[in-house]
Amino acid sequence: MRPDGHTKVAGILGWPVEHSLSPTMHNAAFSELGLNWCYLPFPVPPERLGEAVRGLAAVGSAGLNVTIPHKRSVIALASSASEAVAAIGAANTLVPDGAGGFWADNTDAEGFLRALDDAARLDLEGARVLVIGAGGAARAVAYAVRSRGAVTVGANRTAERAAEIADEVVPFERPALDQAAASASLIVNATSLGMGSDRVPPELPLEGIGPGQVAYDLVYRRGGTPWLHACAARGAEVVDGLAMLLHQGAASFVRWTGVEPPVDRMGAALDAAHAS
Ligand code: NAP
Repeated sequence: MRPDGHTKVAGILGWPVEHSLSPTMHNAAFSELGLNWCYLPFPVPPERLGEAVRGLAAVGSAGLNVTIPHKRSVIALASSASEAVAAIGAANTLVPDGAGGFWADNTDAEGFLRALDDAARLDLEGARVLVIGAGGAARAVAYAVRSRGAVTVGANRTAERAAEIADEVVPFERPALDQAAASASLIVNATSLGMGSDRVPPELPLEGIGPGQVAYDLVYRRGGTPWLHACAARGAEVVDGLAMLLHQGAASFVRWTGVEPPVDRMGAALDAAHAS
């Protein structure tokens, strides 16, 4: 679709943001539905976030995503925030508020659960979930699984941060993590460990993981992460971060357009972009 005077502009604010796969999946969805929208990456340094949000509101942007490092700081720039944002302490979606500003939402938790439901049959009511990490993504995971009645067990390099989000905290070291993993139904890597290397990060648990359990890696990499491959080889069901990326994007899309997106088309665009 060629932009014209009626084109609605959406986009993602991040620093850096050039690597983002969100423009690919959202533009594929707009095109599939014949919507006169376009989605752009906006590289915004932290000290200019306020200017950028106010500027995009002023030019009538129809919806935005927000990524690292702005997910916390953007909340103060929004006119209001959803219950999820208040509970998680981070926002990834801005929606025009009808009064010249944006309200803030967080679709990471929803995306996390949708991808889990797609990939695995797991009743979270009363289940133990080991959440490794304590940043914004881990907070979204803890909020999501608690909303389904799960008990959260947290572990993080910086222990105090884990205590802020989990019902129980275990030490961030292999034997303790292996033990906690063995008694968990769902084990989630919500750290950034595993992004760069071809080896399983030695910090992540493996020994306790096997059949009947689900391993979920928020880190997304072409072909899956080494940790996820190792968990699958041990017989666990696995969910990769690309599925969560897809579903958080689909949930943001609905917030902006009021229309259900073609999730399969978005997923195919993501796969193609990721493989190239
Ligand atoms: P964040 O707020 O910066 O948190 C990073 C987390 O990783 C912290 O818990 C940090 O521990 C831990 N960590 C970083 N380096 C570590 C290391 N060398 N050893 C041990 N722990 C380490 O980031 P975030 O927003 O939560 O994102 C976390 C990951 O999830 C990123 O890889 C991000 O791309 C991914 N993510 C994926 C999706 C998706 O849709 N798939 C959505 C959101 C995020 P400390 O607290 O000790 O520093």
